[in-house]
Amino acid sequence: MWPNGKKCAVVLTFDFDAESLFVEGQPIETVTPAKLSQGEYGARVGVPRILPWLKREELPATFFIPGVTAEKYPHLAERIMAQGLEIAHHGYTHAEPFSMTPADEREDLEKGIEALQKLTGKKPLGYRAPSWAPSHQTLPLLDEYGFLYDASLLGDERPYVAAGTKGLIEIPSDWCLDDAPHYFFNFSPRYRTGLSAPSKVMEIWKAEFDGIYADGGCYVLAMHPQISGRSHRLQALDEVVRYIRQHDVWFATMEEVALYWLQTQLSGRGN
Ligand SMILES: [Zn+2]
Repeated sequence: MWPNGKKCAVVLTFDFDAESLFVEGQPIETVTPAKLSQGEYGARVGVPRILPWLKREELPATFFIPGVTAEKYPHLAERIMAQGLEIAHHGYTHAEPFSMTPADEREDLEKGIEALQKLTGKKPLGYRAPSWAPSHQTLPLLDEYGFLYDASLLGDERPYVAAGTKGLIEIPSDWCLDDAPHYFFNFSPRYRTGLSAPSKVMEIWKAEFDGIYADGGCYVLAMHPQISGRSHRLQALDEVVRYIRQHDVWFATMEEVALYWLQTQLSGRGN
């Protein structure tokens, strides 16, 4: 199923939202300074803590970055790039496409492409909708703009061709593999359980890996520097990675998975 006979693909993804998660294109005065700082933590501490860990462990990763965050923190995006990691599209303002008009969604997508292209010198090939809230036109729109893959859906445990597209590869994940539902806490709007002990999250992430590994799937962890960048959570992620390393897996970026899937599975050369 996977390169060199590996039994499972593993992708570490980080949605580097910073303040955009709370602002979402609204006037900045409408957001409390505390919430803004909660996002700022991802830039001040999260990314600078995660990058050396990835380097030390020689791990690939994909960073989904909203355009406004790339423009505000170009030095961090450049560090991510310099480390050979993938940068992909995560909206421009981080507003949810599902809540936008079709015209606004198109404009937001274009501005996000421009912001990343200016920074990296190339068009992003991958996209993840902010808050996993794509609209019904998002995937066909990605097709139209020449994207290779989307990472906004939860429909499988291995890549598939997204419905309504000419061949856009969907690389799905799930809320149980996202750090936000486990750890993220917010008074208003109230955000689910939050503040879980890492022991609980590790139990879920390891057990979920066991199942996806047994079925030869693609294990995608969806994390955030402002959440998983806290030291006790990064330690837990390190332990999960050590557990995964005891297995015959392929650590890859989303782009590598999408290209491999396109070249093998869809051309009939794979299983
Ligand atoms: Zn996000």
